[in-house]
Amino acid sequence: MNAEEPGKEERTSRLDLNRHEMPKQPPEVRRRNFSEVALGYTTDLAVSEAKRCMQCKKPKCVSGCPVEIDIPGFISFVNKGDFAGGIKKLKEKNCLPAVSGRVCPQEIQCESQCILKNKKAEIAVGRIERFLADWEAAQGEVEMPSRAKPTGKRVAVVGSGPAGITVAGDLILLGHEVTVFEALHKAGGVLTYGIPEFRLPKSVVAREVDYVRRLGVDVVTDFVVGKTRSVDELLETYDAIFVGTGAGLPWFMNIPGENMNGVYSANEYLTRMNLMSGYLFPSSATPVKKHARVAVVGGGNVAMDSARTALRMGAEEVYIVYRRSHAELPARLEESENAEEEGVIFKTLTLPVRYMGDENGWVREMECLRMELGEPDASGRRAPVEVKDSNFRTPVDAVVCAIGNSPNPLIPSTTSGLQVTRRGTLVADAGTGKTTRDRIWAGGDIVTGAATVILAMGAGRKAARSIHAFLS
Ligand code: FAD
Repeated sequence: MNAEEPGKEERTSRLDLNRHEMPKQPPEVRRRNFSEVALGYTTDLAVSEAKRCMQCKKPKCVSGCPVEIDIPGFISFVNKGDFAGGIKKLKEKNCLPAVSGRVCPQEIQCESQCILKNKKAEIAVGRIERFLADWEAAQGEVEMPSRAKPTGKRVAVVGSGPAGITVAGDLILLGHEVTVFEALHKAGGVLTYGIPEFRLPKSVVAREVDYVRRLGVDVVTDFVVGKTRSVDELLETYDAIFVGTGAGLPWFMNIPGENMNGVYSANEYLTRMNLMSGYLFPSSATPVKKHARVAVVGGGNVAMDSARTALRMGAEEVYIVYRRSHAELPARLEESENAEEEGVIFKTLTLPVRYMGDENGWVREMECLRMELGEPDASGRRAPVEVKDSNFRTPVDAVVCAIGNSPNPLIPSTTSGLQVTRRGTLVADAGTGKTTRDRIWAGGDIVTGAATVILAMGAGRKAARSIHAFLS
């Protein structure tokens, strides 16, 4: 045992293994509405959960957090009922706490490192984080940090997802002038156009973007860098550029019938629903067809979000079609469990091989192969192997393809000197985000490929530090 950790006796007396559940809408109700599923901790639940924290002297949870939030620090404020102190501590390292508290995969990051994990009673860090952010919003007045003296330097940030917003929020506080250019008509990146309302209300994202605006960041929407203006043109008036354009180019399987009506990319399906509020049609302008049987291909967060959206749109049957087994699902555990509770049917070890349609070109059936698990592949997971002659057919009215995304090639293809990997991601230094071109930094999914919100924020933070050092 580490000499600085609490002694065994003290630990045992403080040990409370009652991890507090967060209230949720019941599955039979929430499966047909778009309101937020998880309702958040009450004050009592948050304080009670915070009191369970052992306040380790060398907290492993902090090293499990990609942005190194002082987790015991903000939790100890909650323990004392000082929520203003708690949110201040949290925001020292995280400018999007209401978002990360809701969507971060805490179970494989901070919470997985908690010393209570082996008793299955790890502290619910994300739920306390969310509580603090929502508490602050409910007060109506968000405390604004002070800004350093203006440096006269100008930075352009391309893309308003978590990477871009983090860079912008950090650099504005350091005294630089920051403009964010966003291609879509609303800021927020995947948080706005991808993750559904029932998991991340758009009012929460808007609140976080608004906070950065109030710090003084200029957010320009409907501006496609590479078309409206090139990176080189921006460099004429800006001292540095950060590229945080994400990974929004959907993959398809390239199987017969994939171009039929009713076969969507998850990107299109979710964008219609979230960014364009298709689920509110006719009060929104974007119609979305209602389908009775929907198959969603893939097993990640994007697949779960698509399947649960289809249910809420009134589908009678929704399948997750995934080529590996349940144990390998890459989605957050909480989200695959929520999907199952809501009635999504999991067809694992199943691979679509073609789609068949009617005379009008609408998809009506999918042909699949059964799979089994073989030896581990490059990802370390057991590879799915086809079971010979196991083809079978299932009737479907719509298919949503959620098998992955790669970066949009627009910026690399319109900017000389930016090195790109075989996967289409930008080459950037892992510690600084510096690209192969002077005065250009990059971070988030455009560098890592599709990853997580907190990793994008972490990359933004590192790039902000490096840009500041360069400008200073
Ligand atoms: P993005 O969020 O993709 O933002 C990039 C922005 O750049 C976009 O707004 C785009 O319009 C803009 N842009 C692109 N090109 C240009 C251009 N040329 N000019 C101007 N603007 C441009 N992660 C989690 O941690 N937990 C989850 O639960 C989770 N669920 C997810 C669910 C879905 C449906 C999806 C799609 C992703 C999910 N992720 C989740 C992943 C996470 O959202 C991403 O890793 C993260 O948003 C990446 O942030 P980013 O800032 O790099 O890019």
